[in-house]
Amino acid sequence: MSEGMGSAHHLVKPRLTAENTRYARIVGRNITIRRKYLGLSQAQLAAKITEAGFPISETVVHFSEIGRAGKRPENQYRNLSVDQLMAFAAVFECSPLDLLQEACATCQGIPPKGFTCNECAATGS
Ligand SMILES: [Zn+2]
Repeated sequence: MSEGMGSAHHLVKPRLTAENTRYARIVGRNITIRRKYLGLSQAQLAAKITEAGFPISETVVHFSEIGRAGKRPENQYRNLSVDQLMAFAAVFECSPLDLLQEACATCQGIPPKGFTCNECAATGS
């Protein structure tokens, strides 16, 4: 066999770090903010997402939100699948992009109905 690109020997596996898994952390924080805004427990949120057709366990919600203590930074927060992210967005009635952006410190991305946040210009709906 020739020393081509197919040689497993030459494959470099990129290492996951806290930096290149930062979206998992951001999504987790946004899930916490929006879950509490709706007054749901982690179990209730998991049930709603499951009802919406995307089976998910309370444990996955938990690990998404707060991560697993004692794990290396890159493994702390559960990296949700694209479909799971879409399910959370559907239940929160927001855009998946809203979940991927660091929440505004002033309104947390969810200003009250009828109000516009002076900081980020988000409008409550
Ligand atoms: Zn804001």
